Amino acid sequence: PLKRKLSIESIPENGLPGSSDTGVKVIVRMRPPSEDEEEGDLIVQKTANDSLSILGQTFTFDSVADTNSTQLDIFQLVGAPLVENCLAGFNSSVFAYGQTGSGKTYTMWGPANALLGENLSSDQQGLTPLVFERLFARIDEEQIKHADKQQLMYQCRCSFLEIYNEQITDLLDPSQRNLQIREDVKSGVYVENLTEECVSTMKDVTQLLIKGLSNRRTGATSINAESSRSHSVFTCVVESRYKSVANGLSCFKSSRINLVDLAGSERQKLTGAAGERLKEAGNINRSLSQLGNLINILAEVSQTGKQRHIPYRDSRLTFLLQESLGGNAKLAMVCAISPTQSCKSETLSTLRFAQRAKAIKNKAVVNEV
Ligand code: ADP
Repeated sequence: PLKRKLSIESIPENGLPGSSDTGVKVIVRMRPPSEDEEEGDLIVQKTANDSLSILGQTFTFDSVADTNSTQLDIFQLVGAPLVENCLAGFNSSVFAYGQTGSGKTYTMWGPANALLGENLSSDQQGLTPLVFERLFARIDEEQIKHADKQQLMYQCRCSFLEIYNEQITDLLDPSQRNLQIREDVKSGVYVENLTEECVSTMKDVTQLLIKGLSNRRTGATSINAESSRSHSVFTCVVESRYKSVANGLSCFKSSRINLVDLAGSERQKLTGAAGERLKEAGNINRSLSQLGNLINILAEVSQTGKQRHIPYRDSRLTFLLQESLGGNAKLAMVCAISPTQSCKSETLSTLRFAQRAKAIKNKAVVNEV
C-alpha cells in the first residue's frame, strides 16, 4: 500500500489541539426524546462529562453530550480540533455512527427539514457548516499573520459522494454512478471521475451541501420512513502553498477533511427488510461491518502491540478512507444514541462499538505494517 509521509513543514511546532493524540476521539451524543417518546422512558443518564450510565452499566468515553447539548458544543468538541489538525497537515475525519433516528444527520448536517436553509440559526447548524465557517476564518487569520514573511495561498476543493449497496455515486452529479476507487503514487487513493468543486465562501459550501443532500438516496423501512441506508462522505482537500518573501523558497502542504454520515447501524432483522432490500442490506453492512472490523483490529494492535495486516480494501468505505483511518490521521467518532427504553439493545450495541473505538490508542503503529 502507498504511504504518504508528512513533510517536516506540516508537523506542528508545539502540538496544536489534539495533534499529539494519535488515538480515536469518541463522543457519545444522546438526542432529546421526541414528542411521542415519554421522558419517563429515558434509560440513559449522563453521570460525568465523560461518562454515562445505562441500566446500571457505566461507560466512559472522551465526552458525553447529553440531551441538552447544542450543535456548538459538538463543534467545540470535534469540529474546532478537526480544523486545527487539518491546517497542521493531518488528514482529519469525523464519523457519525448510530442507529437510524439517533441524530447522525442532525449532528453532521443540521435538522432534516430545514437542512442548511437560509433561516437556520447558528445554534441549529450542523457540524459541517460550522467546520467550514471556522476553516475559512482560520485561513484568513493565517494569511494575515504571515503576510510580512510569507505568501500563503490556500485552495479548498470539495467532493460529496454516497456509498450505497457498495456502489459509489457522485452526489454533486448523480448521473455518475458506480464510480471506481483508484490508487496511484501521485494521487494516493481517489475516486475516478468524482466531481471536485473549489470553495472559498460559506455560500459555495452551502450550495454544495444542499445539492448533494438532495441527491442522497433514502429508503423506507418499517423503523423510520426516512431511514438513511447509505453512507455519505463529504471531503475537502485543503492545499496550501507558502513562498518565503525573504528567500523565495516555497513549500506545499495538503490534507483532507472527511465528514462521514454512516448508514444506520441497526441490525437488519429489526427493520423487516426482505427481497431486494435484504440483498442491499448485506452490502450496506459490508462497509459498516468492515469499519467495525478495522476498529477491532486497530484496538487490538494498540493493546497488544502486535502488528497485523489491515484489510482496508475489503469494503468501499474503508478502501476510500484508508489514508484517513491509519497512521497519523486524526479521527473522531460521534456515536449517536436514542435515550429511550425501546432502543435499548441498539443503544448498547452502539456504546460497545464506541468503547472499542476508544480502545485505539496509537494508530501510528499500524502504518508500519
Ligand atoms: P439519523 O440520521 O441518525 O437517522 P436524524 O438526525 O434524522 O437521525 O434524527 C432523528 C430525528 O431526531 C430528527 O427529526 C432530528 O431532527 C431529531 N434530532 C436528532 N438529534 C437531535 C438533537 N440533538 N436535538 C434536537 N432534535 C434532534
